Amino acid sequence: MSKNLVILGGGESGVGAAILGKDKGWNVFLSDSGSISERYKQALDSEGIEWEEGKHSMERILEADTAVKSPGIPPTVPAVTALVEKGVPVISEIEFAGRYTDARMVCITGSNGKTTTTLLTHHLLQTAGIDAGLAGNVGKSLALQVARDPHEVYVIELSSFQLENMYDFHANIAVILNITPDHLDRYDYEMQNYVNAKFRILNNLTPQDAFIYWQDDPVIRRQLERIATEAHLYPFSETHETPQTAAWVDDEGVICIDTPSEKMRMPRAELSLNGLHNLYNSMAAAISGCIMEIDKEHIRKALADFEGVEHRLEPCGTINGVRWINDSKATNVNSTWYALESMPHDVILILGGKDKGNDYSEILPLVKEKVKAIVCMGKDNSKLLDYFGPHGIELHDTHSLDVAVERCATLAGPGDTVLLSPCCASFDLFTSYENRGKLFKEAVGRLKNKS
Ligand code: ADP
Repeated sequence: MSKNLVILGGGESGVGAAILGKDKGWNVFLSDSGSISERYKQALDSEGIEWEEGKHSMERILEADTAVKSPGIPPTVPAVTALVEKGVPVISEIEFAGRYTDARMVCITGSNGKTTTTLLTHHLLQTAGIDAGLAGNVGKSLALQVARDPHEVYVIELSSFQLENMYDFHANIAVILNITPDHLDRYDYEMQNYVNAKFRILNNLTPQDAFIYWQDDPVIRRQLERIATEAHLYPFSETHETPQTAAWVDDEGVICIDTPSEKMRMPRAELSLNGLHNLYNSMAAAISGCIMEIDKEHIRKALADFEGVEHRLEPCGTINGVRWINDSKATNVNSTWYALESMPHDVILILGGKDKGNDYSEILPLVKEKVKAIVCMGKDNSKLLDYFGPHGIELHDTHSLDVAVERCATLAGPGDTVLLSPCCASFDLFTSYENRGKLFKEAVGRLKNKS
């Protein structure tokens, strides 16, 4: 008799897991306590998969032999705790999909830079003609691809939420870009819990596998002293720190990649993505490429012609000599630090939104060095005003995007840069960071038309 697979959450990952489960002979039931979008309902109906929305029917859910949980559902919700109490394995969609494929897995995690590095690595593999799928947090279900559109290699963006429910999954190349405080509300405000979740990416690595990481990250270093991994280590750094360093920049500004399978060099100035953070992202992608024995010419080409990712330091044009940049995805202090690091002086910085317990002292030195004025844009800007006010920084208090953009336009002169890099989540005034970035670009577009 078929075994019961229960899926909690009817989004991209849940629906993908449901379809793969059905294909593999499971008896599938999908339950979402919220509403399921029309397109996913249609997909489930056309596959003959049973689903419910607006509730969790516990009796039915507890019949599960295995449950797949969407990464968005916290482990503390009653449906999940009841399954765990009953001893039902609760796994992530990536874990489930991993059981049905032998494809090579390049898995990328970190607090910042995951999406950029995942898309860049995928671009690199495609440039070299490799049949690579893109999956995970970037919004594409691994399970659906395994079921209906299989690839030889997958490049997977993994959040700590996905990693929490991964057990036997085996990455071939695992990347941790950096670890800084984020989402601590999901981890009992204990940084170590968050670090442990990120390091689950190393589970099951063998000596034939690779672990790529930022060598200068104190959190990664400390954790590596505590845990053991059999994988071959490929640390990257801005300088040639140790004989093990696999990627660095030499005194002439040339990026050097040194792996047993491939060595390459490329002038840093040829990278398409700017900023120190993107140097790291590019090095991580290049090391993956070398490990996969991709031709150096293809790696160089891909790193030089990558078009960048929307809402990450995205140029939106120059108006009357003022550059406008959309970095709406900067939802924590660390990403804004890197955005400022990559800027010249004379920045008008738009900050604000839903503060997740930010410590603004991290960006204060860069703000003092490079920022002419901060335009606060949020429902409640009091924390920003209280923090930066005493440091003598020019502050403007606004509560809508249109007013903030207009204020920036009056403050900025030729040669200045207006940077939206808010440090905060978007949910006070917007539906998402994408929505915030899109509305920002539209407002800048209107300014352009007026000029
Ligand atoms: P993620 O998917 O991890 O959220 P993104 O690639 O979407 O990462 O970038 C999120 C934000 O972090 C952007 O504002 C970007 O400029 C910044 N960022 C990108 N890469 C890094 C990095 N390696 N270190 C720190 N910040 C980064």
